Amino acid sequence: MERVRKMVVAIVLFVIIICLFSRVKAAGTSGTVIVINPGHGGSWTGCANNEYGLVEKNLTLKIGKYLKEILEDYYNVKVILTHDGVTFPKNDAGDLAARAMVARNNKADLYVSLHINDTTDKSVNGANVFVTSRTELPKYKQGMTTLGNKILKKLNELGIKNNGVVYKLCQDHEPTYQYYDGSQADYYADIRHAMRGDTRGDYGADFRDGSGIPTVLIEHCYMNNSHDVQFLDSDADLKRLAQADATAIIDYLQLKKGVISIQGNPDFMKIGDTKQLSTKADPTGIATNVKWESSNSNIIEVSSNGKITAKAAGTAKIKVLCQDKSVFSEVQIKVINSQEKYTIGDVNNDGKVNTLDAVKVLQYVSKKISLTDTQILAADTNKDGKINTLDAVRILQFVAKKITAF
Ligand SMILES: [Zn+2]
Repeated sequence: MERVRKMVVAIVLFVIIICLFSRVKAAGTSGTVIVINPGHGGSWTGCANNEYGLVEKNLTLKIGKYLKEILEDYYNVKVILTHDGVTFPKNDAGDLAARAMVARNNKADLYVSLHINDTTDKSVNGANVFVTSRTELPKYKQGMTTLGNKILKKLNELGIKNNGVVYKLCQDHEPTYQYYDGSQADYYADIRHAMRGDTRGDYGADFRDGSGIPTVLIEHCYMNNSHDVQFLDSDADLKRLAQADATAIIDYLQLKKGVISIQGNPDFMKIGDTKQLSTKADPTGIATNVKWESSNSNIIEVSSNGKITAKAAGTAKIKVLCQDKSVFSEVQIKVINSQEKYTIGDVNNDGKVNTLDAVKVLQYVSKKISLTDTQILAADTNKDGKINTLDAVRILQFVAKKITAF
């Protein structure tokens, strides 16, 4: 009986440890996944404006690539395109379920389908965002309407008319186009397949348990409208559309850019000096596994953990890079090789440490004068590799006999 109890206790402890461990791991790897579907592609061209030589599949692919580039600059964000214009999921450009499956398989936080609209009525212009009709969870219709409105607002700032966030249902009363409860499914296949929630074996995504992917389908403007075509006919225009989409997504998902800075860096060192640099990062997670680089290792060498060694006279830049290489920080450090004798505190080298020396430091700090390399070494009374007002204060303290040595 005792043995059984011990075993139970051991198993319970084991389970607790596993749970704690996996929680920590999940927190460390959790990030935002955004899947972008550039509408159409391959043999499926979408709409076109022959006068301007515009084809929808080319425009959506460009917008998609720009959008990916912008969003990937943010911390812990992974962006996946459903296709590159050449290769498609299941080798079928027309298989929208397979594209939605990319979002589903990657447990995307957001699925974004990019389109340019078209209609036979050339007087129609403006943007629409299509969202799901489902309200089971706030992240679906409610959340996507919020995001859709943000996108439309940004597009409107470019001059594109806001035609609103809308949902559209299938009109075909076939079971394939219905959700689990027999209600009409969302009309757009991207939305329907990402959300699904039926029993017809459609990849298991389900808006009832949250595994369905929140989706926006953006019709940026009308290809064949003479007013709207101005937003499409150059790469710079397409970049602006991507930026509008991105700004709204960044705001909605509260994406943040990481910031890192180097701490404890001197402005100057003497040959042979070493110093341990550190970093300050927000969020702190980005500072794990940073990479240190020197622009010139012959002048300053930097170790893999940020210890610098001054090797020769000159100037070098020390850089720390996060794993996400777009986040980095750089400082410039001068290595001084001075053979001249100097006394710390005696900046003007008149054999005395007095208020004149403090004045020289302050003049140098306020960029009124420059100092020679030897004077800089003499002025650095607290030996931190920087000349600032603290050094002047220390000279004054020495003069007033508050301190007796530097
Ligand atoms: Zn389209």
